[in-house]
Amino acid sequence: MSFVAEFNSLPLESLVKRSQSAGVQAVRESMAKTKLSLADFAHLISPAGGELLEHMGRRSHAATQQRFGKVIRLFAPLYLSNECVNNCKYCGFSRDNSILRVTLSLDEVKQEADALRGQGFRNLLLVAGEHPKFVSNNYLRDCIAVLHRDWPGISLEVGPMEAADYRPLVEAGADGLVVYQETYDRKVYADMHTAGPKRNFDWRLETPERGYAAGFRRLGISPLYGLADWRYEAISVAAHADYLLRNCWKAQLTISLPRLRPCAGEFQPLTHMSDRDLAQLVCALRLMFPDIGLVLSTREPAKLRDGLIPLGVTMMSAGSHTEPGGYTGAGKEKIHHTERGRIVELASGASEWAPQQNRATNATGQFNIADERSSQEVAELIRRLGYEPVWKDWDAALTA
Ligand code: SF4
Repeated sequence: MSFVAEFNSLPLESLVKRSQSAGVQAVRESMAKTKLSLADFAHLISPAGGELLEHMGRRSHAATQQRFGKVIRLFAPLYLSNECVNNCKYCGFSRDNSILRVTLSLDEVKQEADALRGQGFRNLLLVAGEHPKFVSNNYLRDCIAVLHRDWPGISLEVGPMEAADYRPLVEAGADGLVVYQETYDRKVYADMHTAGPKRNFDWRLETPERGYAAGFRRLGISPLYGLADWRYEAISVAAHADYLLRNCWKAQLTISLPRLRPCAGEFQPLTHMSDRDLAQLVCALRLMFPDIGLVLSTREPAKLRDGLIPLGVTMMSAGSHTEPGGYTGAGKEKIHHTERGRIVELASGASEWAPQQNRATNATGQFNIADERSSQEVAELIRRLGYEPVWKDWDAALTA
């Protein structure tokens, strides 16, 4: 049975009700268990669970240290392209947004990656909008092949594919696949995705399974908090993780915790998730899934990120840019608009235009980041908190 079938049969309504109305006693009982059910998880994320946050935080901290030690894994996103055929209301790359676009050449990808390597990173997340013309499967394979020798960890966050299309990417050296469901609420999903192949909710929901079948050894999932009720999303992603742990058990699983950030198009979040809610969710996920990696990106401000490290986060991005060419200015001279899949050169003298090689502007980013510290500053902070920043956590020689 695929996760779609299991998801459709989940008693989501009653679980959400529990997450809204559980009493303190129910939370305590759930917290005391060694193996938690989805109903227990719903108790932990309830308002009553929020009253016990300090207690939950101590348990979560201890569980994280026991399973992961005092380490934080670091990774960097490398945006290959901001071209996209989809319209997602909350994303700056939406095809109808008149933004500055570019797709990096292989040399430019290498240039960006080398800059990140120079900072110490060995885990790379290649990100691209979904556009078969500019971001073809062959292009992705070539990017991976060009980076593989220098990068022991290469994950992908790109448009979903068939398992057969993923296989050449795994063979080229990609080992991780990240796919955010964005929202597990079908109605909100339909409202948010107004055009493009991404409208297919079920196809996206089954993507991690197809990735696993293709041989990815790391899988990352998540909703994007700010679209539907956060407790509904949290229960859904917990159910998804539970399914993947049972059915894709050879892969390492991570859950990310992204909240919506300002972006081109100026979409406003539809729902609110407070900092305290986020902290409660970190603890609840850790108690439910002691071995799953929890990922926190630069979407969150520095102070909050620092505070969440001891609670259960195990992986962070740092010094990130969300625009292609953001680390070195690569591709600047090719920046353009895209209309109906066609490149439209910037008009000479337009506000974005500047002479070749010397353009003042970069391509447009996917969203604004909140933690603007450099990777070295983040690594230093991790050390000050008594943790070890880990830049490299895998080597192909281990399985050779
Ligand atoms: S969220 Fe992804 S698919 Fe949607 S517009 Fe942005 S880049 Fe494209």
